[in-house]
Amino acid sequence: MRPIELISFDAEGTLVTPDFSETIWHEAIPALYARNNGLDLAQAKKCVTEEYNKIGVHRLEWYDIEYWFSCLDLGSSEPVIRSCLSKISYYPEITQVLSSLAGEYKLIVASGTPLELLHCLLRDIKPYFARIFSSISHYRQVKTPDFYLRICEEMGVKPAQVIHVGDNWQFDFLNARQAGLNAFYLDRSGEDHQESLGDLTQLKHFLIPSA
Ligand SMILES: [Mg+2]
Repeated sequence: MRPIELISFDAEGTLVTPDFSETIWHEAIPALYARNNGLDLAQAKKCVTEEYNKIGVHRLEWYDIEYWFSCLDLGSSEPVIRSCLSKISYYPEITQVLSSLAGEYKLIVASGTPLELLHCLLRDIKPYFARIFSSISHYRQVKTPDFYLRICEEMGVKPAQVIHVGDNWQFDFLNARQAGLNAFYLDRSGEDHQESLGDLTQLKHFLIPSA
């Protein structure tokens, strides 16, 4: 029996480039904040970044765009999200990797991004995935070991039958590994790839071709 049944991908930094998120969080939101508060853009960026840092990546609010629009008093998030959609882009190997894996394995997305943004980010590649999981929207947590166990349960597989790959050392690698998944750390910038993948084409070295 082939051990791997399911391949799970992080979204941002793994499938989708950071362009959309960087634009929304570090350009569009500060620009709106600057306009509403009579600040110049540099001042607004500083204020908004300070607010982000007060919360930090381990708290759920960090990921919640509605929280930030309300906290910074920015009105509706929808037009701002819409204005950034043209920034969504995928890493160059994605289509080839996903189409070659999709015939052999079940593919899912396991992301810390809330669904309202995740659906935008994945809009052109959604058909490759059997399910899209957002730790925040579905389970009110960051990507903890528990999140990965719940996904396995949902998908009816054992952790050892799952590969997860992502670009965050803690949330994608350590936490998935702690849950018993076969975790791979994706380091697109690094040069030493003995312990990590440089891009997603390298996943195939860890998959045994079916007979
Ligand atoms: Mg990521």
